[in-house]
Amino acid sequence: MDKMSRVFIGIGSNEGDRLAQLSSALKALGAAPGIRVVQMAVVSETDPVGGPPQGPYLNTVAEIATSLSPRKLLATLQGIERDLGRLPSAERWGPRAIDLDILLYDDRIIQEPDLDIPHPRMHERRFVLEPLSQLAPELVHPVLHQTIAALLEPLTVSSATQRGGSANLFGGREP
Ligand code: ADP
Ligand code: MG
Repeated sequence: MDKMSRVFIGIGSNEGDRLAQLSSALKALGAAPGIRVVQMAVVSETDPVGGPPQGPYLNTVAEIATSLSPRKLLATLQGIERDLGRLPSAERWGPRAIDLDILLYDDRIIQEPDLDIPHPRMHERRFVLEPLSQLAPELVHPVLHQTIAALLEPLTVSSATQRGGSANLFGGREP
């Protein structure tokens, strides 16, 4: 059997039937060759960060096991985004039916123009760190050399606006 890598995928949606799209994305991930979904965090509603004015997101993180290379995985994620109706030319950081980001791929560090792993903004985004910390709090960020729990900690005490904008939909832990 191929070597399986441990990968965390950030999943978000703020357009259309957001929950249905998260669910379709997860189903498509599980159906893709070379990908097995291992576990998933609770789905939370969060205010948009940056970009043009837009509606709130539903966010979660999935852990997968994959035999795909980082680049093949990115292509697979982009195929799923397309299938779920995301327009390739859509405004960066603008509203989207579905957004699939590779957050971490084992402890690999990749810096290419169109592929950055670890995801370059994950450590400052509570909507990423909170669900990720449900799945892997002790995981060490390969660039910052801090655990996910440690990276999340300062964001939970300082940001009243983010705190106000986040609500668990499915009875998970309070953020
Ligand atoms: P964001 O996810 O930061 O809100 P976008 O989804 O609009 O921004 O950006 C999409 C682009 O990001 C894609 O063209 C892709 O090549 C690039 N990209 C770079 N690194 C990654 C990564 N780790 N996961 C997903 N896309 C990435
Ligand atoms: Mg993206």
